[in-house]
Amino acid sequence: MGATGSVGQNTLDLIARAPDDYEVVALTGARNILQLASDARRLNAQIAVTACEDLLDDLRAALDGSGIETAAGAAAIIEAAQRPADWIMSAIVGAAGLAPGLAALAQGTTLALANKESLVCAGVLLLDTARRHGATILPVDSEHSAIFQALVGEDMAAVERIIITASGGAFRDWPIEKLAQATLSEASSHPNWDMGQRITIDSASMFNKAMEVIETHEFFDVLPDQIEVLVHPQSLVHALVGFHDGALMAHVGPPDMRHAIGYALNHPQRAKLPVERLDLAAIGRLDFSHPDMRRWPALDLARQTIARGGLAGAVFNAAKETALDGFIDGRLKFTQMAEVVATVLDALDSTGGHIDATMTLDNVLQTDHLARKAAQVAIDNRAG
Ligand code: NAD
Ligand code: MG
Repeated sequence: MGATGSVGQNTLDLIARAPDDYEVVALTGARNILQLASDARRLNAQIAVTACEDLLDDLRAALDGSGIETAAGAAAIIEAAQRPADWIMSAIVGAAGLAPGLAALAQGTTLALANKESLVCAGVLLLDTARRHGATILPVDSEHSAIFQALVGEDMAAVERIIITASGGAFRDWPIEKLAQATLSEASSHPNWDMGQRITIDSASMFNKAMEVIETHEFFDVLPDQIEVLVHPQSLVHALVGFHDGALMAHVGPPDMRHAIGYALNHPQRAKLPVERLDLAAIGRLDFSHPDMRRWPALDLARQTIARGGLAGAVFNAAKETALDGFIDGRLKFTQMAEVVATVLDALDSTGGHIDATMTLDNVLQTDHLARKAAQVAIDNRAG
């Protein structure tokens, strides 16, 4: 799911290297029909699905004569996720990945989870669904894969703290006063990782790390006070787990998503992966520092979101996605994204019941919808 994106393409790269080991059931994408069709042919998928109904004819034309089934729309992606498969990659970007992720878990499969938004919006629902259907979730976000690997064979009761690292993104060394003027192209370049545009901008604002703090809380069931974020410009130590005997287990590896994807693909084995072997002597040093909360207010918003509980994560994510659209469309300044998210969290927490509702898919989607509307109003107020 999300085969045409950055994580999706890295996943297909690993699969294409060992074609005899895999049988590809379904590939899904959105607007990039040519990529989707050529990958479906190359990997001999049973079905190719685009999220965009208006592009179904294009997909059919691109796959003409191949014998590969085609389908389009959000419901068709859910149906693809219900096709029996041993392993499903969840690499759609945004809350759109939630319903297909739940559908995949309901067939009791292994879900490799890159789509962090689904954990942020509905962590309890996702984990409960996995438990009820005997499904396994393997984290693919590099920090969470790193934590997961550091915890192999360990007792969670012995964990004191978890440290996740952040490169600091595009604006780590900018004067804070200049951030309001940051342009889209400046925010869209990452010093170390090559990723989709949205997560790259989220790295510059630290909304990505904020999401990952929530993701850590949801997935590993640790309290916010036990989660630390450190700025680590080299992006080589992805996370560290601290135990109550004082030991810190660090995961060190190249900034290449094929490591975390490959770990989830081969779990519980480790396979040989085509990633760089680090030359630590050549690297020479690893730096760490505390993030400046004035530069990155998103980190504090993540902690507020965890403290609010309930459906606050769905509000946080929807407001963040809408604010990001606003920045990409030129309606919001870079620094106003955090203001919009803070405004929406306050608004929906005080207008009765949205955040306290039970966590069902319907309630999450409804809260997501309301938060997007509230964020739109907050953006219009600023743009006007
Ligand atoms: P991307 O933008 O490169 O790709 C997104 C994929 O989702 C594409 O295949 C696109 O067609 C599909 N898509 C977009 N909108 C859709 C919709 N409404 N319905 C169905 N499919 C839709 O994104 P990415 O960088 O690959 O990130 C994917 C996910 O993985 C995100 O949740 C991101 O936070 C997470 N992640 C990415 C990286 C990375 O290195 N890129 C690292 C860690 C986590
Ligand atoms: Mg990450």
